[in-house]
Amino acid sequence: MGQVERALGLSHGGNSAEMEGDTRRSARRNAVAVASDRLLIDRRPGAFRTLSHGALLAFRCPCGCGRLRSIRLSDPSPWRWNGDRGKPTLTQGMRLPCGWRGTLRIGVFEEYTA
Ligand SMILES: [Zn+2]
Repeated sequence: MGQVERALGLSHGGNSAEMEGDTRRSARRNAVAVASDRLLIDRRPGAFRTLSHGALLAFRCPCGCGRLRSIRLSDPSPWRWNGDRGKPTLTQGMRLPCGWRGTLRIGVFEEYTA
């Protein structure tokens, strides 16, 4: 587990003990964004790469459903990213077909709490 994950109390596919003991908030399905050039076989939630000369950001769904998602990064899409493969950030939040809603911010897909 990396430094960012430890700092956030994250573990893929499970809740932290801290969150399980607190019924007032639901566990967020967060995932660390990891640059990956083998996205078709990389099953890690949050694995990502750009395609089509940077016009698309493709990623493995952070919710853990295993689907590949993509966000268009060129007009007419409102989304842009900071170009940082280590700590990617998107300018807009997103809602994915499986119901996951959140942001990609400083290298972490963060699910909204409500
Ligand atoms: Zn999903």
